[in-house]
Amino acid sequence: MESALTARDRVGVQDFVLLENYNSEAAFIENLRRRFRENLVYTYIGSVLVSVNPYKELEIYSKQQMERYRGVSFYEISPHIYALSDNTYRAMRTERKDQCILISGESGAGKTEASKKILLYYAVTCPANDHMAALGDRLLQSNPVLEAFGNAKTLRNDNSSRFGKYMDVQFDFRGAPVGGHILNYLLEKSRVVHQNHGERNFHIFYQLLEGGDDDLLHRLDLDRNPQNYKYLVKGNCPRVSSISDKNNWKTVMKALSVIGFSDEEKLLNIIASVLHLGNTHFGEGEEGETHITTETQIRNLEKLLGVDGSALREALTHKKLTAKGEEMISPLNFEQAMSARDALAKAMYGRTFTWLVEKINQSLALKPETIFFVITSVVSPMLITLECIWPNFPNIPAYSFEQFCINYCNEKLQQLFIELTLRSEQEEYETEGIAWETVKYFDNKIICDLIEEKHKGIISILDEECLRPGETCDISFLEKLEGTLGGHPHFVTHKLANGKTRRVMSREEFRLLHYAGEVNYNVNGFMDKNNDLLNRNLKEVMCQSDNQILNHCFRREEVIDQKRPEMAATQFKNSLMKLMEILMSKEPSYVRCIKPNDAKQPGRFDEVLVRHQVKYLGLMENLRVRRAGFAYRRRFEAFLQRYKPLCPDTWPNWHGKLADGVSTLVNHLGYKAEEYKLGRSKIFIRFPKTLFTTEDALEAK
Ligand code: ADP
Repeated sequence: MESALTARDRVGVQDFVLLENYNSEAAFIENLRRRFRENLVYTYIGSVLVSVNPYKELEIYSKQQMERYRGVSFYEISPHIYALSDNTYRAMRTERKDQCILISGESGAGKTEASKKILLYYAVTCPANDHMAALGDRLLQSNPVLEAFGNAKTLRNDNSSRFGKYMDVQFDFRGAPVGGHILNYLLEKSRVVHQNHGERNFHIFYQLLEGGDDDLLHRLDLDRNPQNYKYLVKGNCPRVSSISDKNNWKTVMKALSVIGFSDEEKLLNIIASVLHLGNTHFGEGEEGETHITTETQIRNLEKLLGVDGSALREALTHKKLTAKGEEMISPLNFEQAMSARDALAKAMYGRTFTWLVEKINQSLALKPETIFFVITSVVSPMLITLECIWPNFPNIPAYSFEQFCINYCNEKLQQLFIELTLRSEQEEYETEGIAWETVKYFDNKIICDLIEEKHKGIISILDEECLRPGETCDISFLEKLEGTLGGHPHFVTHKLANGKTRRVMSREEFRLLHYAGEVNYNVNGFMDKNNDLLNRNLKEVMCQSDNQILNHCFRREEVIDQKRPEMAATQFKNSLMKLMEILMSKEPSYVRCIKPNDAKQPGRFDEVLVRHQVKYLGLMENLRVRRAGFAYRRRFEAFLQRYKPLCPDTWPNWHGKLADGVSTLVNHLGYKAEEYKLGRSKIFIRFPKTLFTTEDALEAK
């Protein structure tokens, strides 16, 4: 039989806290690599689950596997997403406390898959009730729909979520799932009108063209070739080998009907209209006035959206202003007309997406009195670049407004993570009556403040600049940042650094030193995206549409109300604050997903890429906190149960107090006083070596 030691050498430790050299990043990565080689994609850091994307189907997700994990503690069985799902569920039931599961990782690391597996686990293992089958189905079916409308192919992931997602599952008093709720935030709307080279627009467009039947396409006045649509050609990548748009179309249509959706026609009219809008062109007259040169498109829009063609024509080429109580119409120049058109396409798509999520929520919602507990999963695409660490991406452009928001979200989640991990660690020591030892860690509050602080933070400065009358532009915003934030240790620009930065920075960029590393942002488009302005007369046309979805998305009040709505970054900040509040009130569990290579290949472990993620996921920091005092802790009964054969006094059964039994056992094993402590219900072991020696003794027996 293989000795415990060689098995450990081969497959590594299943919990990083058991690493001898827990301060060493190299040892951490080596452990991940060993396990990955053996198809062991899950490893713990205490109660945090680290998962490495295998990029192949593993035989570990079957129903039998689910059964194995039911009611079992973390350490008794190999790490698994089911173990985490089950423990969370049991904690909810026994401790009667709301739980949340935070899943993070970069695009393609496996977050969506993880959330699907958790949902599947609950759908299969939780007690059934009348709503159960329907709800489970709907929750699972909502995924392909959300993916079709909210995911796209990017350079990093063929099926990348381009929005943040936050999902509640509600259980009744018997522990049966009874309801759900999805909250979406920050869809990357700019993708509707522009894609980088090698990337695509949202999947639904290609699915429709590829999968829709001839009659449907005829009705929508579309042809099958994506190359004929301006909004689909920017990335020069109409097809993706790993994706079958045709099959996915069928799945999405079926899913829509399971969710109980009956507005497909109206929804598809909007999707088709976005494409027609993209093909709407303008010409410039001799006086510089703009007119529409593509009448067919306007007629299509008129028909599909049920809007007045001449009003639309007018609204795409003119702007309505109110000055001193009087309405004025001013013509748009060519550039302005193009951006008014794009703004309309983005608004139509973005609002329809929000409407769709609401629809899904309605299908998931149940009577509030049945709601007892909430399990939440947060999925946030992580987009951080570190030039020096990604040598294979030398030309990756500096990031834009959306990534700025997402990285801000990641900063906040990291802050919460540290706070909650420290808090729970401290609480456990307190309940167990063990002295707390202070842990040193990097507090990223300074970076959160840099972004969100009132008046002085980047978001405030951006809002101010957007509201300032007169000539403002992205560069004037950058100058304002330099003026206000120059000297801040986490903020750099070309000018502030006097050109002396490691990575070449253009004059349009600023750099933030995030907790995860340096990230450059290009200010181009920040003002526009933050403003997110849609001309009032375009809104008016949309309000008059006889498409009920659009009616719902564009409200009359919005046109009448002259107050300026909150700007995009502030809206995002506020929704993030709310999210933090919700999360703070729950018991968190974490899944940290790692992408092992960029080629999406099974079996390939790219160390440079993994190291980068270990860093930005804050895993070493997490391990340090967890290991600050004791490597390992175990409830008395579990410890006794496992090791009682090693001592004649505890074998076959210990009849006295549990603590005395554990004491007798460890004395017999020769544990020294500095090696362990007994709490009220748990034994805490300081060094992994002590535990390994005991494990080896058990193995040898
Ligand atoms: P993210 O949501 O983090 O962007 P996904 O969950 O979409 O990433 O994962 C990207 C791809 O990786 C999936 O489409 C799937 O092919 C593969 N993948 C992720 N997790 C697993 C897993 N546990 N087992 C097998 N394949 C996986």
